Amino acid sequence: MENNIEKVQCLIIGSGPAGYTAAIYAARANLKPVLYQGIQPGGQLTITTDVENYPGYPEGISGPEMMEHFEKQAARMGADIRYGLATKVDFMEPPYKVWVDDEKLLHAESVIISTGASAKWLGIESEQRLNGHGVSACAVCDGFFFKGKEVVIVGGGDTAAEEALYLSKICSKVHMLIRRERMRASKIMQDRVLKTPNIQVYWNSSTDEVLGESKVEGVRIKNHATNELLEIKVSAFFVAIGHHPNSDIFKGWIEMDDSGYLLTVPGTSKTNIDGVFAAGDIQDKHYRQAVTAAGSGCMAALDAEKYLIMKGEL
Ligand code: NAP
Repeated sequence: MENNIEKVQCLIIGSGPAGYTAAIYAARANLKPVLYQGIQPGGQLTITTDVENYPGYPEGISGPEMMEHFEKQAARMGADIRYGLATKVDFMEPPYKVWVDDEKLLHAESVIISTGASAKWLGIESEQRLNGHGVSACAVCDGFFFKGKEVVIVGGGDTAAEEALYLSKICSKVHMLIRRERMRASKIMQDRVLKTPNIQVYWNSSTDEVLGESKVEGVRIKNHATNELLEIKVSAFFVAIGHHPNSDIFKGWIEMDDSGYLLTVPGTSKTNIDGVFAAGDIQDKHYRQAVTAAGSGCMAALDAEKYLIMKGEL
């Protein structure tokens, strides 16, 4: 059994901008980082369209392409990038134990957690049943399949607004369900949505049911102000109501807020456990940008380097 244990100086869990940036810095500092990509290599940016606000790309770049660049750069610096999902941890004392895919056990002198966040779902039965059959949490990934069709999008934040605008260019009509009487999205995005002729906004409205046996055929909408129910025929149902942090395996070890975001010492990537650091969306519910995630990944690698030097491991 002992033979199956791999010793690692710096283990990075997660492969978004935070994880890859941590890997670039850690590799250059000779920490010999091993990075496990998780179930969505490249993270949330792989399900985005154009990224126009990441400095260094004057013409913009697609999210997946940008993440390929990150990965290539980390690999070129010498990071050991692997496919696999961290499924359990034991942070009682160093070396920290991390299990990958429930079988492989690693002993890590330092750990950088950059597991990011995942899309939230409404949690109704019909949404789950028809997931992948017209129900999706990624308009950019799946919108194309509904070219020329009518679709629904749920949510009133910037993501929903962005995705509604994206869908409006592909689909004949976008029905946008907002649960309150106003949107949470930034003013500029709201204006764009409201000015788009083929987006119809339903205020005070939520999903009563997604209709269809084996694929999405319609949606029953409930208006909270009037209690009226309305059925519309659509081919797809997109959910864009925010994200939750991928922090379940760290419960009981790393201090987190009520929503499950990991807490770090302000101005650092340090968690409550010495030698365990957090970077990216897993510890940031406020900014959540690729560039801020990358910046925090850099911080985590520098913090890990300093920690390992202090411990005499480097
Ligand atoms: P968000 O800002 O948390 O918005 C979530 C939206 O979904 C809100 O309208 C919320 O309604 C609604 N919602 C939540 N749970 C719901 C439910 N069960 N049923 C129906 N509606 C529900 O999430 P986000 O839009 O993903 O944005 C996250 C962060 O990323 C924000 O800070 C945002 O500004 C940022 N972002 C920026 C850009 C950009 O700058 N280009 C693009 C995307 C995202 P309530 O308002 O009633 O809570």
